[in-house]
Order: sequence, then C-alpha cells, then structure tokens
Amino acid sequence: MKPKIVPSFHYKNCINCGMCVQACPVSALEMSHKGKNGKYRNMFPELVDYDGCIACKQCVSACPMECVAMASYYEDK
Ligand code: SF4
Ligand code: SF4
Repeated sequence: MKPKIVPSFHYKNCINCGMCVQACPVSALEMSHKGKNGKYRNMFPELVDYDGCIACKQCVSACPMECVAMASYYEDK
C-alpha cells in the first residue's frame, strides 16, 4: 500500500460555499450531492482525483469554516 496525503472533509460545519473547490489548482475537487444524513439538499466537496492532488493544501487554507484537513490515504497498489 502506498500512503499519500490528501484533504479530508468534516461536513458538519460545511456551509457549501465551494471555495475549497475553486482554490484547487489542479481541479481535483468537485461539489457533489453527498448530503448530510442521507439528504441531498446541499452540495458538499469531494476529492474526485486522488492521483491529481498535489497536496498543496490550498483547499485547507481556502475554507472559511476550517472543515478541511490533510490526512493519510492508503491506496491498494
Ligand atoms: S491539497 Fe491542493 S491539489 Fe489537493 S485537493 Fe487540495 S487544493 Fe487540490
Ligand atoms: S470551503 Fe469549507 S465550507 Fe466551503 S464548501 Fe469547502 S469544506 Fe465546505
């Protein structure tokens, strides 16, 4: 397994502003319909391109609610 550092989202305080998605220089993030408690009213950020993420932490800096943190991700390779 190859460890990699990628952003992890804490949706509890997310205000769905999309600033993390806009901040990403390699378009590795997208707003998706993954809602709270199985509901789909709001859009939440999601890392859609693990390989493309360059771990620059710009999404972490961009979040006004401190919902984004870098975490280890292990891929099966
Ligand atoms: S760490 Fe950088 S490259 Fe990775 S998702 Fe965040 S802004 Fe994009
Ligand atoms: S910047 Fe923060 S509050 Fe805004 S959508 Fe991203 S995680 Fe949610």
